[in-house]
Amino acid sequence: MCGITGVFAPGRDAARLAYFALYALQHRGQESAGIAAADGGTIRSHKAMGLLSAIFDEDILSDLSGHIAVGHTRYSTTGSSIVVNAQPLLERTELGDFAFAHNGNLTNTDDLRATLSPTTVLQATSDSEVMAKLIVESKGTMLDRIAAVLKVARGAYSIVLCTQDELYAFRDPWGVRPLCIGTLPDGGYIVASESCAFGPVGAQYLREVERGEILRITGKGLESHRTSVESAIPALCMFEYIYFSRPDSKLDERSIYMARYAMGRQLAKEHPIEADVVMAVPDSAVAGGIGYAAESGLPYVEGLIKNRYIGRTFISPDQKMRSRDVHLKFNPVVENLRGQRVVVVDDSIVRGTTTPRIVALLREAGAREVHLRITSPPIKHPCYLGVDMATYDELIAANYTVEEIRAKTGADSLGYLSLAGLMTAIGREREEMCVGCLTGEYPNVPATHQTRVLAKAEI
Ligand code: AMP
Repeated sequence: MCGITGVFAPGRDAARLAYFALYALQHRGQESAGIAAADGGTIRSHKAMGLLSAIFDEDILSDLSGHIAVGHTRYSTTGSSIVVNAQPLLERTELGDFAFAHNGNLTNTDDLRATLSPTTVLQATSDSEVMAKLIVESKGTMLDRIAAVLKVARGAYSIVLCTQDELYAFRDPWGVRPLCIGTLPDGGYIVASESCAFGPVGAQYLREVERGEILRITGKGLESHRTSVESAIPALCMFEYIYFSRPDSKLDERSIYMARYAMGRQLAKEHPIEADVVMAVPDSAVAGGIGYAAESGLPYVEGLIKNRYIGRTFISPDQKMRSRDVHLKFNPVVENLRGQRVVVVDDSIVRGTTTPRIVALLREAGAREVHLRITSPPIKHPCYLGVDMATYDELIAANYTVEEIRAKTGADSLGYLSLAGLMTAIGREREEMCVGCLTGEYPNVPATHQTRVLAKAEI
């Protein structure tokens, strides 16, 4: 997944602004983080494994002087979890140095790697480095090079790049991963994966970076360069609405919170149930839970309290860790559950590890009935575009029917939001979104890049 930001702030320390913006994007990746800053001449950078709070301190930030910065928080999908894969990546061209930060996954990395000069040494193991090297080996101005890469790179990429004196931001022609731009209060601009990064630095949301658009920000201001996107169909990731983006962000002027609230309402229409209370699995399903409660007329209660200091369970790399994490993460509010028929709203079931444990926790706390309601349709297919969704073998909905999943989770009933209902709730057309994880139809993933579809996944 990853969170990225780019700052162009004349007269200010851009690295500090990038740090606060990245802090608001920490939910997009906790594996490593880094910031590179340019002062018109030199680019300095610092990156390490772990959370931002552990990586940066006053001294490190002060060393990153300059009015331009790019920053990255990493959530690994391709490439191993090692510091050499941390970003921003630093590269050198005959034009000068540049720093580069990427959110997304390329789907033709091998083909692109094959076009690189045989003398090119790759240090990292990520698709991002291949893309950075393509820029190094292209010809012309930085703008020409980026435009050339946009023509050949397939998949998902939202990118911020700074040279010694300019900031660039661009998005793949499909527009899979979000990227938006805001204005800074004392002049200048900030680009970020999500608009929730703007509040902490006092920036005003301006607009989304368009798919296939290259923004160039210099001392003279902002330029927009549109590349041809005719052969690409729009494919904003549905999962940003379901789970990934923070609810206080907006995408194309639409609030993620309100979209999730509407999903909850729609879910209550599609799967009503006689019950006493509605609760949500915190934090990602809260808006959906409140929506379900509003539509059903049932009271909304807090049934689980989440330990805010435990990271996202999904991100820990091995399955053993993941299953232990669920108990570390949630504690039940017994008084809200004992003897109650409880509707539990969650945003998704992916591998099906978390949900049975939550149902068991609620039963132990005295819930009389547990009715699971999920604000996404069943996730039956892997993601090749940057969300860690697991493989067909691991995805529970690729291998079991809804009734089988209900039985495995131990719930009394289970209802998923329909795809049509999801679209109604978020107010977008199916044709402008990537719903590959729900349907197996990916707009920009070559068939050769997709893993075999198990027969059961077609059920
Ligand atoms: P699972 O145990 O794999 O079914 O995990 C599903 C839970 O993880 C849901 O409660 C989601 O809120 C959360 N989740 C779904 N997708 C992701 C993801 N890509 N990264 C981290 N957490 C996720």
